Amino acid sequence: MLLRHTTADLAPREALTVNPAKTCQPIGAMYAALGIHNCLPHSHGSQGCCAYHRSTLTRHYKEPVMASTSSFTEGSSVFGGQANLLQAITNIFAVYNPDIIAVHTTCLSETIGDDIPQILSKARDDGKIPPGKRVIHANTPSYVGSHVTGFANMVRGMVDYFAEPAQARSRTVNVIPGWVEPADMREIKRMAAELGVETIVFPDTSDVLDTAQTGKHQFYPSGGVTAEQLARTPASLATLALGPTASGAAARQLDTRFKVPFELLELPIGLRATDRFVNTLRRQIRAQVPASINHQRGRLMDMITDMHQYFHGVRVALWGDPDQLVSLAEFLTDLDMRPAYLVTGTPGKQFEKRIEAALAGRVPEARFRQGPGADMFLMHQWIKNEPVDLLIGNTYGKYIARDENIPLVRHGFPILDRVGHSYFPTLGYQGAMRLLEMILDALLDHKDRQSPEESFELVM
Ligand code: SF4
Repeated sequence: MLLRHTTADLAPREALTVNPAKTCQPIGAMYAALGIHNCLPHSHGSQGCCAYHRSTLTRHYKEPVMASTSSFTEGSSVFGGQANLLQAITNIFAVYNPDIIAVHTTCLSETIGDDIPQILSKARDDGKIPPGKRVIHANTPSYVGSHVTGFANMVRGMVDYFAEPAQARSRTVNVIPGWVEPADMREIKRMAAELGVETIVFPDTSDVLDTAQTGKHQFYPSGGVTAEQLARTPASLATLALGPTASGAAARQLDTRFKVPFELLELPIGLRATDRFVNTLRRQIRAQVPASINHQRGRLMDMITDMHQYFHGVRVALWGDPDQLVSLAEFLTDLDMRPAYLVTGTPGKQFEKRIEAALAGRVPEARFRQGPGADMFLMHQWIKNEPVDLLIGNTYGKYIARDENIPLVRHGFPILDRVGHSYFPTLGYQGAMRLLEMILDALLDHKDRQSPEESFELVM
């Protein structure tokens, strides 16, 4: 009973978060920066922050995540980190030779008030940035927002630093995939290619954090969006921002600065969200949906029909990132399941409105909460008051799963205690099929374990 102190008594709480449903901004900035080709993320702060961010990403993706740090000491904490960052830029280009350094800040450097654009301009003036190399940055103070905010800030930084005015429109479409697994980014590109749409996907961590093992170490793997592709984003026909919280800021920036029209879509998790993604992408070049994609959709429909008898009325508790929760809520409701509780520690606009739209009034008992008090403790209390049949969320839910004997489907970030999730998409029609299988297996495995001998069935 690891969470035995959790009580069912709900007391008002405004200034206390217990077991947050989020993590810190720089982790998101680091993940986004890894989606740029030949880029080394750089943490402007103390070594401890960088070690934590790297280890969390390494534990989730099961790949050695590389990043450098300004390595603040007491001196830099008092007098500022300019000298450390300038020295770091010199060392990084000399030793690790990336094309791009992506600097993000931490609580400490933000509190001191380090002016990163000024430091980078000094680095340029002092000749510390070799010709053809780039240093970009995003401010990621972790006492506001969450890992998703940090991701969004770094993706917007890609527009700020790389996008160049276009002479003419091309036929490409920008796709900002949001914080999803490398396999999801690969799936987005595969579907777009099948539709005949040429895309610039940014960031793109496929072939960076899910690289093939070749027996040869590559410090900078082959994947990632290139600086040249990012420079061309203003020429694209449009931008599709998947997940408004993670991708909206960059899409708006491209529109504001270069008049690239954008569409904000919910993440294509589940049937209807994927339909909207396919249709929006198809409209950009007025293409027909090919038979191959229609068949993928048909197979998903067939699976839903076969499995529906097990899903009907199942109450689910979910936690994680807002963009994922909204799409999952819609998908589960479409399956006639009941997303009863949803919490996210990530702040942002319109979460409640989006959840209400996803549930479409079909789950009137649903409770959802966002922000500082929306934590795993609250989720556990709700469950103690009225139990659910299934949990969907990251690894941190395993304590509630164990204490309350509820099956858990791991989805989202971080997943620290399982391997393989980053290799299989949950986006698109094929991803939805995998999600269905994961959910049904969890429910039926649980039923098998709980069944008394007289009702333990071979065929269920
Ligand atoms: S919350 Fe702030 S101090 Fe803590 S690891 Fe994140 S950036 Fe560093």
